[in-house]
Amino acid sequence: METPHEPFHPLIDYNSPSVLKRYLDEHGLGMQKKFGQNFLINGDARRRLVEALEVPPGELVWEVGPGLGAMTAELIMQGARVKAFEIDRGFAQALRDLIPDSTLFTLVEGDVLKTWPQEAHKERDAGFSAAYFLGNLPYNIAAILLADFIEKGRLFKRMVVTVQKEVAQRMFAKPGTKDYSSFSVLCSSAYSIKPLMVLKGASFYPVPHVDSQAVRMDLRQDRNPETDSPIFRALVRSLFANRRKNLKNNLLAFLSGRYTGGSLDVAEAAEAAIARAGLKGQQRAEEIEIESFIALSREVESLLC
Ligand code: SAM
Repeated sequence: METPHEPFHPLIDYNSPSVLKRYLDEHGLGMQKKFGQNFLINGDARRRLVEALEVPPGELVWEVGPGLGAMTAELIMQGARVKAFEIDRGFAQALRDLIPDSTLFTLVEGDVLKTWPQEAHKERDAGFSAAYFLGNLPYNIAAILLADFIEKGRLFKRMVVTVQKEVAQRMFAKPGTKDYSSFSVLCSSAYSIKPLMVLKGASFYPVPHVDSQAVRMDLRQDRNPETDSPIFRALVRSLFANRRKNLKNNLLAFLSGRYTGGSLDVAEAAEAAIARAGLKGQQRAEEIEIESFIALSREVESLLC
């Protein structure tokens, strides 16, 4: 049973660029471009993003890139507890002042790409695993971090992430569209992905040059464990690697150096695997549904064993 907390009220106005600027100036802090630092100054958007996460009261949420705590405060106001990962030391100190309640908020300082595995271990050792994730992600690590979580099996029941619009479009792209990529296949292998609001530059301080989009990711109940195999992952990446080549030529490139031969030469083996998977050599990866990639990966795996 969770103990009830006093209602949480933010200590600064996260919607006011002048208040944020004054706070940064007074604390000797600056915005660092290399860390993709843009604060979401649209309170209505913050509220809707947290609502979209549908966190049960008292649940722990992992948040990446809290900045000065605009989303963190909203999460806490909506009843969540937060474990936040922040790389900027100055922001980390500010967060300790702005959100001091350690029962509701813990901070992991450093580069999340390096710190998250240890936190995941710690949680596993303690017999649980945070099921919810929220992040207005820094544009330079967004796709890398999401791929890292999925490839290393750190899956959440639900994630709500805000990313550069082009990255969001790749996440929910369907076969036959220009944005469909190996990243689309990876994301949709683990999650059902739903586009949420587009956020124009004016919703952020400082104003970025690109638009952002929020995405909700719900863990698929019908996830096929075959998509976790290293061969599946490497194959899909390789089939999208050269978009001008057709399926047969990309598969040949994948098999060369891996296929050590049976009764067939490598070209015959590639053709046979494609046919058995119900595909055609002239097709392109951009047209292929995830189920067909799984079928092809099964055939390739049997060629390589
Ligand atoms: N959540 C805040 C908001 O919405 O107003 C800030 C979001 S800002 C787009 C991204 C945040 O991620 C910044 O606070 C930045 O310092 C942090 N960040 C950037 N790279 C990071 C990394 N590798 N690990 C952890 N935090 C990072």
